[in-house]
Parts: sequence; structure tokens; C-alpha cells
Amino acid sequence: MLVDIHCHLDFEGFNDLNEVIERAKGAGVIFIINNGISKKSNRKTLELVGKYDVIKPALGLYPDEALKMNDRQIKSEIEFIKKSKPIAIGEVGLDGMRVPNMIRQKEVFQKFIDLAKELDIPIIVHSRQAEETAVEMLEKSKVKKVIMHCFNGSLKLAKRIEKHGWYFSIPPIICYANQFKDLVKEVSSNYLLTETDSPFLSHEKGKRNEPMNVKETLKVIAEIKQIEVEEAEKIIFMNYKRLFG
Ligand SMILES: [Zn+2]
Repeated sequence: MLVDIHCHLDFEGFNDLNEVIERAKGAGVIFIINNGISKKSNRKTLELVGKYDVIKPALGLYPDEALKMNDRQIKSEIEFIKKSKPIAIGEVGLDGMRVPNMIRQKEVFQKFIDLAKELDIPIIVHSRQAEETAVEMLEKSKVKKVIMHCFNGSLKLAKRIEKHGWYFSIPPIICYANQFKDLVKEVSSNYLLTETDSPFLSHEKGKRNEPMNVKETLKVIAEIKQIEVEEAEKIIFMNYKRLFG
């Protein structure tokens, strides 16, 4: 039983979504979390949830999408998210590489941290080149259920995250991206999850990614941890169960 903790099937380029879902199910995927990134994407996520039983909703605002909105608009989207009963908050966080105005980004991220705490559901965090700041904010707020998506920070910081009992979701790009291999080596299997970030981060450079490819991540995790793929699958599934109940 496989899980894809983080993807964007509402993005362009999934005209064959029926087939994508069938392939995922055929590969053993039983749980796909689609992560909303904007007002529009949150609604599309809920549409997909209505259409495919395997898809579950995480709702949020990606840093650059949130920057386009004023306080009133963000407040109203947070109300919408609350009403929609997502199983996680995401994709939210900080981006120190492509998005300006870190002060505003932090303000918005804090609102989503508070929301995840209030709803008592996991928060799926984007932290590109702002990893330490994101971790500090989560620590200050004493958040318990955290998933660091596509984590690219230092191994020292990874250890700190592990100590909190937070999770890392690992994308198929691990097949050729050594920083993820190092991360998996460093962190206990009990804190690993699988994701695809579809349509991005495929194990095949330049190709569209899709949820069935969580099995590619799983193979690499098994290899690094020197266990059977079935064993790795079982551990990841238990981690998912522990977090999502
Ligand atoms: Zn994403």
C-alpha cells in the first residue's frame, strides 16, 4: 500500500487524469494528497476529491500566490479552508529563492501554522532556501504534526526536525539527486514519507511526474536502508497511519 503525500493533479497537463489514477491504483497507491496552492487550486482540489475516492485534500496558499492577496482575502480563504475540512494544510511555507518579501511570507505562513494547530491536522511545508527560518517558526509555535516536503536544508537541521518527530516526504527525484539520498541516510525510516510533487520532480529528467512513481522513491529508500522494498513500503505506510490516523 503506497501513499503520495504531496502532488498537484489540478495543474495543467493532466488531461489523462483517469488513466493517471488507474495507473496509480494499479501500482498499489491507496492515498494521494492533492495540495492546493491558490484560491483556484484549492477549489479544483476539492473537485478532484469529489471525483476520485483515492484523492484527499490539503488546502493552502503557496508563498507567491499569497503575496498577491491582501489580509482580508487571506482571511476569507482561511475561512473557506476551515469549512472545507481538509486532511492537511498545504502547500504553505516560505520560499527564499524565487519569492520576494520574506517578512510578508512569514506573516502568512504563521497564519497557516495557527490554522493547522487549530484544526489539529498536519501541515505540509515548502521551505526552499528558508529551511531554518521555517523550522524556527514551527518550533516557536510548538507544532506537532509537520511534513517537510522536498526538504533541501542541511543534515544538521534534518536531525533537529527528526528530534521533533516531524516527517520528510521524499520525491522520486531522489533517483538522481544525491542530497535526498544523504537525507534518507541521515534520518530514521520512521520519519520518512513518499511524495511525487507531480507534475514536477520526476525520477526521469524532464518527464511529467505522476503518483504511481512513489514506487521509484520507495526502491531507493529500500536500497539505502538495506531492506526489502516490501519492508520499506510497510514502514512508510505505518508512518502515514501514525500521522493521519
Ligand atoms: Zn508542491
